[in-house]
Amino acid sequence: MPFISTRGAEQVSAPEAIVRGIAPDGGLYAPVSLPRLTKEDFAALAGMDYASRAAHTLALLLDGFTEEELLPMARAAYSRFDCDKIAPVKALERNRYVLELFHGPTLAFKDMALQFLPWLMTASARKQGENREIAILTATSGDTGKAALEGFQDVPGTSVTVFYPQGGVSAVQEKQMVTSQGKNVHVCAVKGNFDDAQTGVKTLFGDPAFIEKMNALGKTLSSANSINLGRLAPQVAYYLSACAELLAQGNINWETGLNVCVPTGNFGNILAAWYAKRMGAPIKKLICASNRNDVLTDFIRTGIYDRVRPFHKTISPSMDILISSNLERFLLELAQGDTAQVNAWMKELKEQGRYEITDAQKAQLTDAFFGGFADDEATKKEIAALWREEHYLTDPHTGVAMEVGEQYRRETGDETPMLIVSTASPYKFAADVAQALSVEVNGDAFAAAQALEAATQVKAPKAVLALKDMPVLHTRVCEKDQMGQAVLEGFSD
Ligand SMILES: *Cc1c(COP(=O)(O)O)cnc(C)c1O
Repeated sequence: MPFISTRGAEQVSAPEAIVRGIAPDGGLYAPVSLPRLTKEDFAALAGMDYASRAAHTLALLLDGFTEEELLPMARAAYSRFDCDKIAPVKALERNRYVLELFHGPTLAFKDMALQFLPWLMTASARKQGENREIAILTATSGDTGKAALEGFQDVPGTSVTVFYPQGGVSAVQEKQMVTSQGKNVHVCAVKGNFDDAQTGVKTLFGDPAFIEKMNALGKTLSSANSINLGRLAPQVAYYLSACAELLAQGNINWETGLNVCVPTGNFGNILAAWYAKRMGAPIKKLICASNRNDVLTDFIRTGIYDRVRPFHKTISPSMDILISSNLERFLLELAQGDTAQVNAWMKELKEQGRYEITDAQKAQLTDAFFGGFADDEATKKEIAALWREEHYLTDPHTGVAMEVGEQYRRETGDETPMLIVSTASPYKFAADVAQALSVEVNGDAFAAAQALEAATQVKAPKAVLALKDMPVLHTRVCEKDQMGQAVLEGFSD
């Protein structure tokens, strides 16, 4: 399957798209077409273990890779998960299911792709004859950073530099990042919010002087953000996996299918669900759940994307985003492949902070998606209700999705089975979860994790408790317009 930039016509292979990360014109690589799976294909998937399902999916999506080649990569990528099923589906009441994506080493769904990406990246570089070091630059709203640091740690021929918004991530997220080990890892706090960090990284990718300096050091840039095709492809796999399982167990049937509700920030996870739907998964409505940063809710309801609004810090920090990068890939579909149209929208977004789609496009958008948001108070209430009524402990990001899923059912009366995507371990955000459950905490995030464990008897992952005593190894802070310099300084430490 070849790929094109959302902003231009040049076609590239999957390995080239993965090594580049972002297209030279600033666009994202999107599939020219998608393969289609049949009912029988889903039955076959259900008979495989998770790594085989992933290898099978990626071989369908990425040209230049065979299933035989991908299988050992998938096995290695998912060898460090604390659950054999890797992405288990758990049943709740009232025809709701939870797809748990937080069983990887950094306790958030980013591991599903970022444990795989280094394998894809180094194999792609080999295929491309790329001998330079691949310098990964990544902006994080909290979870991508640690997952990238963990995934690329000491991977030969690569380095990784992570930028996170100073004061904009949870205590555990920050501790995870600043204690990262490995000779090739760099971490820097940015004086700004996530959008500033993300824009800063994107700017560096298009800055000839910076690229030249990196070149002189024998390095070529790539991205581990969800704009990288190598992030997106492994995410499609877990939707196909979940559908295959629910079909095989008779929990859903092929005709009625299921709705999928995703806690959304950069629109990467839910975009993967959209691709899974286009590949034949029996997915009906895609429910896009936002926190108080409700730019996507408004877009889905009005057809106007308007980032000019207050930025809210919430208890679901990985979704504190006003510029959802991956939406650009969906826009290409709304524009029926017209990259000039996507270019025009992105220019308007940059210059005026907003753009508007046509009525026909809006109809297409609302046919596929429902948008809703939950503020912190509603999210905590939902976390508490879920624990009280079903003894299911959930994190604030997933809590947003649970609440918006309920809103959807109330507003539409649509009782189709719903798959709610759970993106983080509750212990990664223990202080807020404890507060939601009125569990008393005396102390820091680690005390909160212990108190939460004592109150709920739900086991805290070792990875959280072990963090407490790990030494801080990264203390760099930079201004938002000094990120390039910070990258270069990192290499000379
Ligand atoms: C990254 C993240 C999200 C948002 O996912 P997108 O792909 O950016 O929409 C939601 N929840 C958690 C816990 C995350 O880490």
